[in-house]
Amino acid sequence: MGGGQLGRMLSVAAAQLGYRCHIYAADANSVAAEVAAEFTCALDEDIGSLTRFAESCDVITFEFENVPVGPLHEIENCAPLHPPIAALDIAQNRVAEKNFARDHRGTTAPFAEVSDRPSLERAIAEIGAPAILKTIRMGYDGKGQSRIQPGDDLDQHWDAVGHQPCVAEGFVSFSHEFSVILVRAQDGEIRFWDTPHNRHEDGILAASVAPAPDPILQQQDAARDLAAQMAETMNYVGVLTCEFFATDDGPIFNEMAPRVHNSGHWTIEGAVTSQFENHIRAICGLPLGDTSLAAKRVEMHNLIGAQADDWQALLADDANHLHIYGKGVSRPGRKMGHVTKLYF
Ligand code: AMP
Repeated sequence: MGGGQLGRMLSVAAAQLGYRCHIYAADANSVAAEVAAEFTCALDEDIGSLTRFAESCDVITFEFENVPVGPLHEIENCAPLHPPIAALDIAQNRVAEKNFARDHRGTTAPFAEVSDRPSLERAIAEIGAPAILKTIRMGYDGKGQSRIQPGDDLDQHWDAVGHQPCVAEGFVSFSHEFSVILVRAQDGEIRFWDTPHNRHEDGILAASVAPAPDPILQQQDAARDLAAQMAETMNYVGVLTCEFFATDDGPIFNEMAPRVHNSGHWTIEGAVTSQFENHIRAICGLPLGDTSLAAKRVEMHNLIGAQADDWQALLADDANHLHIYGKGVSRPGRKMGHVTKLYF
């Protein structure tokens, strides 16, 4: 379910294992459908179309954590669905997600819920500024966020998030950002990829590099333990990504994605088995593949907006592996492709 680049790369990995993918997406120009055997173009809420789709499938997965869970419950008995709906319930709500991490003894940024303008005032009085205001639901790639500096007019930030229920988060002073990417099989086996060091620009991932530098590696075990325990609790099957800030006080959990993740795109060429292939293996009940690094160092750079226009120059470098997602229209901030560079 879902028709973007993650669905596209999952379909390619599935095809390599001999599977035929059926994409379900609302966008007629789905870049996943272009590389899949079948395509249903319909809304998630169209229960008739969704049921017909589900009945045609042997296993169902999704590439987007904001799939509405109501319709998913309607098709629960048509075919196995992995990862579990419980993972979406948690990942779709920033407050539930932070509480879930805290329940597993993880550390999060200080936060306070904001439901209206007066509670924003109280939240900032409590956690202080700088802070980040994030909508509780439907936020990704820095969307639905507003950064608050000391002394700011809070009206302007409340308007910026569209008066939606929010969480106000204390600004974390971190040395690095990283993600734990794991895959959990149906028998409970968990494997981790090397931890990438992630660099964001304007709230959007710009680059991921593995192996990570020492300050991240020192926090890796604690972060992996937390991610693995959360996966166990959810009885999770598939790839799970948890994003962290590395700080002097250890890893601070930021958020989780119950799916393959942009910070794992480097695994296509940079690991023995990619996140996409292992996700397909996990949901199909197959043995997991080796997650080790396939080079001494791997770098993934996103091609955002017009950056993808330079693809001919990128191909001229022998170290580069180019991925263009086939999205027709380039817009500022839109992920159009990525390039992975291997060093041996
Ligand atoms: P998110 O949508 O929560 O992943 O936020 C996007 C990016 O904004 C993160 O990867 C960080 O670079 C930055 N960011 C988010 N929350 C915080 C925070 N509490 N403190 C500092 N930086 C943050």
